[in-house]
Amino acid sequence: MTVYARRGIPTIINAAGTLTRLSGGVIRPEVAQAMAEASALAVDMAVLQAHASGVIAGLTGAKAGYVTSGAAAGLLIGTAACVTGLGAAAMARLPDASGLRNQVVISRSQRNGYDHAVRTTGVTLVEVGLPDRASGAGIRDAEPWEYAAAINDNTAAVHYVATRDSLPSLAEVAAVAHAAGVPVIVDAAAELPPQANLKRFIAEGADLVAFSGGKAIGGPQASGILCGRRDLIAAAALQQLDMDVVTELWDPPARLIDRSALDGLPRHGIGRPCKAGKEEIIGLLTALELFVAEGDEARHERWLADITIIAEGLAAIASADTVITGGDDTGSVPKAELRFPRGSESQALAFLRALLADDPAIHAEAGDHRAGVVRFNPVALRAGQATVVAEAARAFAAGARR
Ligand SMILES: *Cc1c(COP(=O)(O)O)cnc(C)c1O
Repeated sequence: MTVYARRGIPTIINAAGTLTRLSGGVIRPEVAQAMAEASALAVDMAVLQAHASGVIAGLTGAKAGYVTSGAAAGLLIGTAACVTGLGAAAMARLPDASGLRNQVVISRSQRNGYDHAVRTTGVTLVEVGLPDRASGAGIRDAEPWEYAAAINDNTAAVHYVATRDSLPSLAEVAAVAHAAGVPVIVDAAAELPPQANLKRFIAEGADLVAFSGGKAIGGPQASGILCGRRDLIAAAALQQLDMDVVTELWDPPARLIDRSALDGLPRHGIGRPCKAGKEEIIGLLTALELFVAEGDEARHERWLADITIIAEGLAAIASADTVITGGDDTGSVPKAELRFPRGSESQALAFLRALLADDPAIHAEAGDHRAGVVRFNPVALRAGQATVVAEAARAFAAGARR
C-alpha cells in the first residue's frame, strides 16, 4: 500500500507535464535516496548553499548559485537582491520599497501569473511595448528603445521571460539594461530541455536566471535554482537564510557571502518564507547532475518511446488526427497531439472528461481544447503509464463507435 492509499488519496496519471497543481515532475530513485540520506544528518545551511553555489556555477557558467524552493521563489529573492544590493537597512524595509530603486521594467507581452513573485518585493512593474492582440495591429513586440526609455534612476531591474520566441532577444535587452547599469533577471523556469539553456541565458547577458527544479530537471517538486552574479546571489541569500544568528559567531562561507562587504547584519528578510530544506538542496543537486549526465538525446528518446505508445492508442479515435510534435528535435519535449476537426471541439472536451473519469484519472494538456486539440506530455509519466493512457484512448474510441 502506498502512502497515498493509506490515507485514502487517489493517485493520478499525469500526462499534462510538470504542473505544480498535478504534483510536478518525476524524481529518480537516486534523488529520493539522496534526500533520505540528507534527512538523516544535520548541516549548516549556509555551508550547504555555498556548496550548491559551486555546483550550480559549474553547470551554468554563472559566478554563483542558490537553491530555492522553486523558480518563483528565485524571482522573489532575485528581485529583492536587485532592489537592496547588500544594504541591511534596505533589506529590513522590504516590502516597503519606497525610497529604494523600486521599479522593474517588463515587456507587456511577458506579463504573467508568476510575476506576482516579483511584485511581492514591493516593486512596481513598468510595462513596455504594445503587442496589440485586440485590433490585430500588434505585429511588433516590445523593442529595445522602449526598454531604454523606461529605465530611470528608480529602476531596480529588467524582468525578462525566456521562451522559444521571446522578443526582443535577451542579448538586446541586456545591452540596453547594462548601458544604464541595470541588471536583468530571466525567468527560465520551464526552459529545460534543451540542457544548453543552463548556460545560454547567462552567456547572453542575464545577471540572474531562475529555473524550476521540479520540472524537467527531475528535482524535488519544491525546488529551484537561482544563478548569476556573485553579489546578487549573496544579497538573495542574505534575504532568504535564517539570520537569527549571533553577530560575533556568524561565519558564513566567503564564497557565498563576503561578510566584509556588509554594512550591517540583516535580520530575517523578505525571502525567509522561500525556504528550501537540506533534503530539497541535496535532491536538486543530485537531480541536476543526473539531468546533465543523461543528455538531451537519451532523454528525448525515452520520452519519444512513451509518446509513440500513446499516439498508437490515439490513432484508434477515427474522428480525429493524431500527430507527434517535437519528434525530430532532441532539445524539445515530444508530444502526442489529437486534433479533432473544426466544429467538433466538444469532442475534445468529451475525451478529456472521459480520461478524468478513468481510475486512475488521466490528466492531459487541456489548454487548447477550444481548438479541438488534446495534447499528451511525457515528462511526468511513470513507467508503464503510457500503455494505460493508450488503452484509455482505445476504450474511448470503442465507446464512441458503439
Ligand atoms: C513553472 C513556472 C514558474 C514557477 O516555477 P516554480 O518552480 O513552480 O516556482 C515560473 N515561471 C514560469 C514561466 C513557469 O513556467
